[in-house]
Amino acid sequence: MSDDLYAVDKQAQKLAGEKGGFPAQEQQPPGLTPPMEPTPDHGEQTWVGRDRLAGLKALITGGDSGIGRAVAIAYAREGADVAINYLPEEQSDAEETKAWVEKAGRTCVLVPGDLTEETVARKIVDDAAAGMGGLDIVVNNAGFQWARRDSGLADVKTSDMDRVFKTNLYALFWVSQQALKYLGKGSSIINVSSIQAYDPSEPLIDYAATKAAINNFTVNLAADLGSKGIRVNAVAPGPIWTPLQPATKPGDGMPSFGGDTPLGRAGQPAELAGAFVFLASPAEASYVSGTVVGVTGGRPVF
Ligand code: NAD
Ligand code: MG
Repeated sequence: MSDDLYAVDKQAQKLAGEKGGFPAQEQQPPGLTPPMEPTPDHGEQTWVGRDRLAGLKALITGGDSGIGRAVAIAYAREGADVAINYLPEEQSDAEETKAWVEKAGRTCVLVPGDLTEETVARKIVDDAAAGMGGLDIVVNNAGFQWARRDSGLADVKTSDMDRVFKTNLYALFWVSQQALKYLGKGSSIINVSSIQAYDPSEPLIDYAATKAAINNFTVNLAADLGSKGIRVNAVAPGPIWTPLQPATKPGDGMPSFGGDTPLGRAGQPAELAGAFVFLASPAEASYVSGTVVGVTGGRPVF
């Protein structure tokens, strides 16, 4: 390994915490960024834009924090205006993302709202397109899971299922359908899947099912929209250090979080941005549609 690469790897290990883990910690959903220890890396100090999305307009659901914030920062530095959706109680995280987008010289439109409501899910798309003056890229990134359970199916409540299925699946249908009013040739939709679609774990039995469905939806929608010149892809993250983790899993699981990957650590949100920039780029990914890009630290996505 070159010295430079070694330094990057060491930095990533440092960000991931001592011995590849994190201090035990827990929040209530949806979770916020400031209480996290250590602070996640969204590429604030590292992402270098090359105008790969110049002049494009992107809606990112769940763009306030975690993977969505890293994507917002990278997209802005690549020349795109950004609209972000999030839950109202995440306003402070959203303001932080907005500040980074504006620092990159781009517009950031805030469209808060609960995506489990159909009218809200459709309205945030219209408001985003109105605010930016168009829409070229939709990143269906918002997601919810609940894993503070003793077992798998036996502990799943209907209220959990409703929130998980509506956030991860219904909203994805509503948002994508509404976006068809605005998307055209060269546009793209990027859905967020998970390693859970391929290697599900029992406490996430409902969440994992939605992520497998997202892969299926991605392939089918790519076939549906291909004739319009609209590409549809997905990114499947492995374990990534975001508020979702301490907000939805037992806090004593954080020290080992990500340790079971071949790379031996969790990923940082910044390490996902490259896949999202590539898939959104009309030039670089012009013939890429209906595929799922894994960013999993080495865990298999087939
Ligand atoms: P995160 O908590 O930073 O982001 C998830 C976002 O979803 C929240 O910020 C919130 O704004 C949004 N959200 C949740 N419920 C919502 C609702 N009802 N209405 C509107 N917005 C809502 O965590 P993250 O890990 O960056 O999650 C982003 C995506 O990545 C999710 O789809 C998640 O399933 C997926 N993912 C994460 C991991 C991981 O290890 N962190 C692994 C695989 C997949
Ligand atoms: Mg958030």
